[in-house]
Parts: sequence; C-alpha cells; structure tokens
Amino acid sequence: MQNNQIIYSQTQEKRSFFNRLCSCFEYFKKDPKQINQYHPEIDTPKSSFIGQRKIIVLDLDETLVHSQFQHFDNHDLTLDIVVQQQNFKVYVIIRPGVKKFIDQLNNFYDIVFWTASLKEYAMPVMDYIDPDRKAVERLFRDSCTPLKNGLTKDLTKLGRDLKDVIIVDNSIFSFTMNNENGLKIKDFFYDKFDRELENILPFLIWISQLSDVRPVQIQYGEFQRRKKQERKNNEQQNLYGISRSVTIERKKMNHNSLIKTLTEQVTDDKKVNKADTDESEKETFEIGN
Ligand SMILES: [Mg+2]
Repeated sequence: MQNNQIIYSQTQEKRSFFNRLCSCFEYFKKDPKQINQYHPEIDTPKSSFIGQRKIIVLDLDETLVHSQFQHFDNHDLTLDIVVQQQNFKVYVIIRPGVKKFIDQLNNFYDIVFWTASLKEYAMPVMDYIDPDRKAVERLFRDSCTPLKNGLTKDLTKLGRDLKDVIIVDNSIFSFTMNNENGLKIKDFFYDKFDRELENILPFLIWISQLSDVRPVQIQYGEFQRRKKQERKNNEQQNLYGISRSVTIERKKMNHNSLIKTLTEQVTDDKKVNKADTDESEKETFEIGN
C-alpha cells in the first residue's frame, strides 16, 4: 500500500526507557517454554487437512491487491476504515485472477493470508477476495517480527515443518528469515492485464506434490526451464510432423504422377498400337483391295 504511514508503516514506534523496562519484567514473568511454542492464532487450525497438506502463505499488498488513498478510476473496491480514531478512504484494485487462484490453491494447500498491514484495513479486503473463507487463517501486522529494517514474517511461527511451507510475496524482505521457502512475485499496481497469478499456478500445484518444497525459488527456475524445454520439444515435434506429412504428400504426389505418367504412356501406347493396327488394317484392306 502506498503513502500510508499509519496503516502500512513498517517503522517501529519509539518507546521510552521506562516502557522497555516494563516489557522486560513482563517477558521474564512469562513461562519461557510457552514463549518458544507460541504460534499466532494458528495453533488450532480450522482445516481438517492440516498435517496432510502443505501450507501456502499469501501476502496481500502488491501480491493480491494494490491499495492507496488517492482516488483512481479503475479501482474495484472502496473502503471506509477507522484507524486510531481517524477516518480513511482506501481505494483497492484486485490483481487479475485472484479468486480463481485461491479456488485452485485450495485444492492442494491450506491457505494462510499474512500481511504486514493493519487488521482494520486488511480484514475487509480479505473478505472481498475470499468471501467463502477458503483461507484457513488470516494473520496481520501483529504476527510479524520486527527487524532492524522493518517487519518480516517468521514462518516458524506457523508451527509446521518448513519443508511443507511456501510463502508467495512481492517483497523478499518478508521471508528473509526463511529464504528457502519464499517465491518472489512481481509487484502488482494497476495492470489489468497482469497474468502473474495464472503463470505461477502450475508451478505451485506441481511443487505441492514434492516431499520438500525447498528451495522454492530455485525449484521455480528449474520448473520454468523444463517447461521451456518441453515447449521447444513440442514445437520441434510439430515441425517434424509437418515436414513428415509434407514428405509423405510429396511421395504420394510423385507416386500418383508416376502412375499417371505410366497410365498416360500405356494409353498413348495403346492408341499408337491401335492406330498402327488401324493403319495396318487399312493397309491390309487397301492391299487386299
Ligand atoms: Mg506486499
């Protein structure tokens, strides 16, 4: 989301020394085992497939949608939201193919939406793109992990073996803690002819069948290379098929023309013979006469 310091800002609020000190006391009061086992909102998954299917984490902004405060003509959705007692109007454009993408992925994965944006903004957008609640979980800024340069998504918080987790995100910073699990997708802003979701779908379906998805980005490169080779082979086969049928046709034509030539020759010979016969008969007749 652009120009949105309140909703989308990744900078961390400055805290006083006193506040930080209180937080330390709070931390030590908690059971450390409990902290290590913390998984945000996903410890009790809704899907009956959990444990059998892989998890795909989908980012929101510039991956599935683009949103901004400034009005623009071809937006799909307008939101009136209240954040920190302030009203905001947000214009949202949906990336082409989002609903089909979610429908298809739902056949192979447990889907998790995970955004660094605020819940007040992201929830209605998620309602719009996934009205049937196919995603098993929705995670927001408060589930992100603060690093020096901003917020990231620590996939270990999902509580699953990382061999079964993929994240699709337009920012590589989002999976900087789990690089091998990330698939970077091209930024989406306004392009109504964008086909990126459609393009990556066959790969995501394919990789869902592997025992270990890592390293996702390299697997994607390999998948694309193989697809390209397959297309090339098919084109060559088609060309070979066309060339073979042309050769056969040519042979047929040659064969037909040879038969035609021979037939014509035979016919001509017959005519000649007949003419000779007629002539000889004529001669005989003439001689006889
Ligand atoms: Mg994003």
